[in-house]
Amino acid sequence: MWINGKLTNGNSTESFPVINPATEEVLAEVARGTPQDAEAAVQAAKAAFPEWRRTPANQRAQALHRVAADMRLHHDELVRLLTLEEGKPLPENEEEIWWSEETFDYYAELARHQRGVVIPPGDPGQFNFVLHEPWGVTACIIPWNYPILLLMWKLAPALAAGNTVVIKPSNVTPLTTLRIAEVALAHLPPGVVNVITGYGAETGEPLVLHPDVRMIAVTGSLEVGQRIASLAAPQMKKLHLELGGKDPMVIAPDVDIETAVSGLSYAALINTGQVCTSTERVYVHESIFPHFTEELADFVGKLRLGNGLEASTDIGPMIRDKDRSKVDDQVQEAVRSGAHVLTGGKRPAGFERGFFYEPTVLVNVDHSMRIMQDETFGPVIPLMPYRDFDEAIRLANDNQFGLGATLMTHDAQLVKRFFEEVQAGTVWINDPLTDNFAGPFGGMKMSGIGRELGQEGLDEFTQVKHVHWDIEAGLKDFWFPYGRED
Ligand code: NAD
Repeated sequence: MWINGKLTNGNSTESFPVINPATEEVLAEVARGTPQDAEAAVQAAKAAFPEWRRTPANQRAQALHRVAADMRLHHDELVRLLTLEEGKPLPENEEEIWWSEETFDYYAELARHQRGVVIPPGDPGQFNFVLHEPWGVTACIIPWNYPILLLMWKLAPALAAGNTVVIKPSNVTPLTTLRIAEVALAHLPPGVVNVITGYGAETGEPLVLHPDVRMIAVTGSLEVGQRIASLAAPQMKKLHLELGGKDPMVIAPDVDIETAVSGLSYAALINTGQVCTSTERVYVHESIFPHFTEELADFVGKLRLGNGLEASTDIGPMIRDKDRSKVDDQVQEAVRSGAHVLTGGKRPAGFERGFFYEPTVLVNVDHSMRIMQDETFGPVIPLMPYRDFDEAIRLANDNQFGLGATLMTHDAQLVKRFFEEVQAGTVWINDPLTDNFAGPFGGMKMSGIGRELGQEGLDEFTQVKHVHWDIEAGLKDFWFPYGRED
């Protein structure tokens, strides 16, 4: 763990293994944090807060730029370590670490350029203004699928805004986070950032329940988000929740089929389909459905599975055996209800080790099936034909989640209808899953509360205070006693 500026096993006497999902080998044993470790991390963050909060924005910006620079010095090592513990192919982790470094630069600059707001006073002789203040000790609870990117989308704005932080990485992927603490966070004043490793119930919940933690920023599953929200409610904590998704893609009849097949495969299969914004359901206009699905199955069937460290790998392993089983259960249940597998649908031959699953294309599906309703979080592409655009939008919105949605078309009329009517926090036209530092990211409906990135992503980490100042300090005629005559 990393508490008060030091690597430590804390109070822990036990450890847990971190497994390479491509080989099933144990990469490392990591300290199994306890509630006492959570307490120590919160106390360190609490002690560091008054000074960090008062550190001028320029100096905080310099500290954040230095985090980015120190990460860049260790870039290749971090990319490789992330592939070892999470499984994604190296090019995807190049992207994740690059994005993480840039996020620190982005928020360093954004925070340095903040301006306040002075509002019109109710009377002459008064002065009214609005302050943005940090929340204090902030807990950042992180999933395994983009363990560094999703951490940095929280940590950079939290620090830029003057908060101090306790990070709880996923127990599945703590190694790259710990290495970043050592090589890039070490120059920050002790206690400004702390990392506690362990299981959600043992180290995450004590943070959620701790009265000195005023804000909790979580990326994770809907179930964990609901549990954290219910635990935090009695203390009225600020919650920032980035939860699950079941993103639709609509493919209009005017698309270039080769381009759309390639774009869909990327959107559904990057990180082996383990992205909150993975395309998980596809609606293709009926006029092109047979040709499109045939081309898609051919393209997907040729993708190369393998260890993410190898340059020839397109698709890495899934993260754990239990996640692979969940995906296979959804596929087999759909098949029992009439779905047809065009390619994939099973564990690949020749991979005795590693949590691999064949990229899968399914047709003959409908909205009564779990594969079209529940988050799958695996390499599966189920497709349905639609008759007209009303039906496409109705199907796209027929889900509890509302994280992202994609439309593939050149038709501006369809684009306008889609971005106005689709219920999703991000809408992509022709370029799925591309983020923008200045573009707020987050979900509608059950996909969460709050936004990351952009100005909105910084504002989340501040609370607002309105100051009303009567400079003349005179007696008011509306004070007691009523009816007073001057
Ligand atoms: P998870 O919900 O199992 O765990 C997320 C984190 O919460 C982990 O660090 C875990 O240890 C911690 N945790 C678990 N129980 C806790 C508790 N009771 N109190 C405090 N902390 C607790 O999620 P995961 O399997 O790591 O990640 C996959 C999920 O994350 C998917 O549902 C995916 O959609 C979602 N996700 C969402 C986004 C987004 O931006 N909306 C991005 C990536 C992943």
